Amino acid sequence: DGTKGRCSGCGILLQTEQPELPGYTPIKALDRDPVICQRCFRIKNYSEASSVTVDQDEFLALLSKIGDKDALVIHIVDLFDFEGSMISALQRFVGNNPVLLAVNKTDLLPKVTNWNKVRNWVQMQAKAQGLKTVDIVLCSAKQNQGFDRLLESVNEHRGDRDVYVVGATNVGKSTLINRLIRDYSDLDQELTTSRYPGTTLDMVHIPLDDGASIIDTPGIVYPWRYSEIVSRKDLSAIMPDKPLKPAVYQLNSGQTLFFGGLARFDFIEGERQSFTCYINNAIKIHRTKLERADELYKDHAGELLSPPSREDMEDLPEWTRHDFRIKKGSRNDVFISGLGWIKVNGQEGALVAVHAPRGVRVMIRPSLI
Ligand code: GDP
Repeated sequence: DGTKGRCSGCGILLQTEQPELPGYTPIKALDRDPVICQRCFRIKNYSEASSVTVDQDEFLALLSKIGDKDALVIHIVDLFDFEGSMISALQRFVGNNPVLLAVNKTDLLPKVTNWNKVRNWVQMQAKAQGLKTVDIVLCSAKQNQGFDRLLESVNEHRGDRDVYVVGATNVGKSTLINRLIRDYSDLDQELTTSRYPGTTLDMVHIPLDDGASIIDTPGIVYPWRYSEIVSRKDLSAIMPDKPLKPAVYQLNSGQTLFFGGLARFDFIEGERQSFTCYINNAIKIHRTKLERADELYKDHAGELLSPPSREDMEDLPEWTRHDFRIKKGSRNDVFISGLGWIKVNGQEGALVAVHAPRGVRVMIRPSLI
């Protein structure tokens, strides 16, 4: 209601209603002097960044400020949802500033993975999206892998400049920033205020030893990621937390796979071939005949075919169908943003379809592994 004032750390307008949005502070904390938002409080007292989120428009308004600065930008994406978490508009906004692409969650790929192939794949995909990068680092914030490389690269490209960290929600940005804070920061200094007129929110400046700052930007919410539309409970079902164990299915045309009640994959036409599913192993896969699939879903969605539960299903958009013709001789993944992907192993081509809630990004890409 405007009477709560601004955070004396980052300058954001304070609010007491929505913990996941910028400026949140518990009502009790309003008595503190000076008053700071919960996010700044955590950084100051626990050296810990936490996640806040914004929608695309707000985020682009923020991004447009970065182009005016002289800074290093760390763009962090989630390897499990690469196309879904990539900020493809970034290039237009960062101006001449160098971008370091940190591809997080490498720990989710199968233990036996050809990392050179993955690295090349990332390079190719980033380029195809029009992203210019000074370096690409594969890492796992959780397993502490690739961090030394990342820090080295930050040192090499930062000079004495500020470091902006940008990413979609849930990519591991906070985990990464916490790591940077521990390695670089002198938290005895005050958090500096950074108020950008004309934007509805502000960025958190974390002072570094040399007078520069790490600037934590809010996580951008992309509506095409499955992870943004499911309930909290189902989010933990779709987000893997250990290495994916690929599930291989030999299918004849006219067969269908259900991923719980979250999505459906039809093999419509083509030679018998194998399909490898890279989805959280906690999700049950049901194989059925294509001709029975509609009925099975109608009768069993939310029960046999779950998650989501019948109750949670009501909050999800209706399914829509995506048809793909996989060309002969190509190696492709059918990618469902936030849920995973199905690798098409056959080389003879195939006609397939995916049914998923309207709005969820479904696409074909060159296979990752
Ligand atoms: P933010 O929303 O981008 O700030 O992301 P967080 O740091 O809060 O992390 C979001 C989720 O991803 C949490 O459940 C983390 O445990 C998880 N996470 C972060 N880094 C990794 C990683 O390297 N590997 C895996 N498997 N999970 C990660």
